[in-house]
Amino acid sequence: PRSTLFPYTTLFRSGFFSLYIGIDLGTANTLVNVHGKGIVINEPSWVVINKRSRETIAVGYSAKEMVGRTPANYVAIRPLRDGVISEFEITKSMLEYFIGKVHQQAIVPMPRPRVCIGIPSGATEVEKRAVYDAAMAAGAREAYLIEEPRAAAIGAGLPINEVKGTMIVDIGGGTTEVAVISMGEIVISRSLRIAGDELDEDILQYIRKKYNLLIGERMAEQIKVAIGSAYPLQNELTITARGRNLITGLPGSIEVSSVEIREAMNPSIQIIVDTIKDALDEVPPELVSDLLDSGVCLAGGGSQILGLVPRLKDELNLRVWMADDPMTCVARGAGLVLENLGRYKRFLVGLERSASKG
Ligand code: ADP
Ligand code: MG
Repeated sequence: PRSTLFPYTTLFRSGFFSLYIGIDLGTANTLVNVHGKGIVINEPSWVVINKRSRETIAVGYSAKEMVGRTPANYVAIRPLRDGVISEFEITKSMLEYFIGKVHQQAIVPMPRPRVCIGIPSGATEVEKRAVYDAAMAAGAREAYLIEEPRAAAIGAGLPINEVKGTMIVDIGGGTTEVAVISMGEIVISRSLRIAGDELDEDILQYIRKKYNLLIGERMAEQIKVAIGSAYPLQNELTITARGRNLITGLPGSIEVSSVEIREAMNPSIQIIVDTIKDALDEVPPELVSDLLDSGVCLAGGGSQILGLVPRLKDELNLRVWMADDPMTCVARGAGLVLENLGRYKRFLVGLERSASKG
C-alpha cells in the first residue's frame, strides 16, 4: 500500500493541495482568491436571516436578490456596511458559507485552509479579533489579517517594499481608504465613511426631491454605474429611472441625464477629493517628490465612476491611474501575502494576546 499512497501523501505534505485563500471582506462585496486558481468567489456581502431564530437563510447573490422583497420574518443585513464588524455571528456565517463554497468547488478533498483577510485600516482591536475568530470558527487552519490598503497596494503591483512612497485610494461601498505607503509602512492614512453607497443615496434623494419619484437603492446604484460621473463627459448620457410617484402613489418613470446625476453626487465626490488633498497635505516633502513619480493609484469598485481620473488629476496636480482589475486588488493582494509569507509577514496585523503567528 505504501507505494500507492506515497505520491498522494507527498503531494499533500509538500503543500501541493494546501489551500491558500485570500479574502476581501468588503462592505459591499466579498471576494475569495484561491492560490493557483485566482478569484473563485465574488458575491455581495449580504446575509438574510430569520429574525426570530437568527438562522441564516441566504448569503451572497441569493441574499442580495431578496433585498426589499423579504417576508416580514426575514431581514437582509450587510454585516460590514460601515466598515465595522458589528454583527459577529453574521460575519462568521458569511465566512463559513464562502469558505465552504471553496471546498465544494474542489475536486480532491481539501485540507483546512490558510486564510488571509483584508480588514479596514481603522479597525479596532475588538473588530480584528472578531474577524480572526470568525475565520477560525469558519474552519480556517490559520488566519492572518492585513490592512486593506496594504493588500490593495500589493494586489495592484505597487512596490510597497521599496523606499519610494506610493499613494493608494480605495473607494468601496461603505468606506473610502486613502493611504500613503513607504517601505511597507502606512505613513499616512484616512478612512472616510463616504463611498459608493453614499453616491447611491445622493442619487435617490436628488430624484425624490426634484421629480417626486421614489426609487429603490438598487435602481440608484444602476443609475450611478451606468451614467454617474465626476467630470464632464464628452457625450453626456441619459437613463430611465423607475420608481413610485410620491404624489399619485403610482409607478412612474423619468429620464435623468448624467449632468443631473453629476450634480447630485458632486458634494460627496468633493469630500472624497478633499480627504485625499488633506492626506497629501501631511506628506513629508521627500515623499511628495516620490509621489510626483509614482502618482496616485485608484482601486475599489467606486473608483470606476466615469471621469474620476481626470477629476483627480485636475484637483491634485498628480498623475492618477487606475489599478488593473480594481475590484479584485485586495483579495489578490491578500492571496499574494500568503503565497510569499517570508517576504510579506511583517505586513500582517498582529492581534493582542493572540494566537496569530503574524
Ligand atoms: P467594498 O470593498 O466596500 O466591498 P467594492 O470595492 O466591491 O466595495 O465596490 C463596491 C462599490 O463600487 C459599490 O458602491 C458599487 O456600486 C460601486 N461600483 C461598482 N462598479 C462600478 C462602476 N462601474 N462605476 C461606479 N461605481 C461602481
Ligand atoms: Mg474594498
